[in-house]
Amino acid sequence: MVLARTSAGAGSKCNHTRIIFTTIQLLFNCSLLNHSEMKPFSCLLTFAAIISIKANAQVRQGGDPKLSEVWQPEPRVITPGKTALDAPSDAIILFNGKDLSQWQSANGGDAKWRLKDDYVQVVPGAGTMQTKKAFGDCQLHIEWRTPDTVRGEGQGRGNSGIFLMGLYELQVLDNYRNRTYSNGQAGSIYKQSMPLVNVCRPPGEWQTYDVIFAAPRFNTDSTLKSPALITVLQNGVLVQNNFSLWGGTEYIGIPVYKMHAEKLPLTLQDHGNPVRFRNIWIREL
Ligand code: MG
Repeated sequence: MVLARTSAGAGSKCNHTRIIFTTIQLLFNCSLLNHSEMKPFSCLLTFAAIISIKANAQVRQGGDPKLSEVWQPEPRVITPGKTALDAPSDAIILFNGKDLSQWQSANGGDAKWRLKDDYVQVVPGAGTMQTKKAFGDCQLHIEWRTPDTVRGEGQGRGNSGIFLMGLYELQVLDNYRNRTYSNGQAGSIYKQSMPLVNVCRPPGEWQTYDVIFAAPRFNTDSTLKSPALITVLQNGVLVQNNFSLWGGTEYIGIPVYKMHAEKLPLTLQDHGNPVRFRNIWIREL
């Protein structure tokens, strides 16, 4: 306590000294630069310095904290999930293990993937599954599991994908002791950004993705206004940190942006492997 008071007192004396010094400097500058073109600019800078020092001194000596408080608007109240895996009250439940009513086949008609227990499993050849509703900016939670019986290698082992807006793929792959190109492994934005770390669980174990996604914006002349941005946590660990996408994720060639709607369906990829998904919820941002 004593130390704090002593320190504050010393700081105050120091500030007064600086104010006096700067004022003398101001007078000196004004007199020296009497015929100079720099005079108005120099005086302005010196006055600004004095005001800044005085403001600093006021904050240190205890100004009015209310001046920097914001009360309106007030964040709306929502109820969190029981755990971080569970949907909060304002989330749209895309899949809770019971039915695929929020989904359809990308080829049209009902989703044809296998529904069992609390999960849905890719049926190889059945095609991509997509949400009936379209989404833009969002927070997405999704859980996935690659087959416990390991078959194939590289891109052929437990491959699927989560396509934000049906265009921007967050890779799903079994990369537990399974090497492939870095920008194509689990946690990557396919062929654009490798994950910061490989935090894959062994095959047959459930894994989580928590995604924060900002949709790209386009100008009326169809040129890009702002790119898509994505942040991803895999199993609670940051793997993509606000990555700015180069365009749609492509298997071959350079990604480019093509103007599209503000909201588009979320799609899950059929890459020929029986990958499972469960507990999928999304919050529109
Ligand atoms: Mg894939």
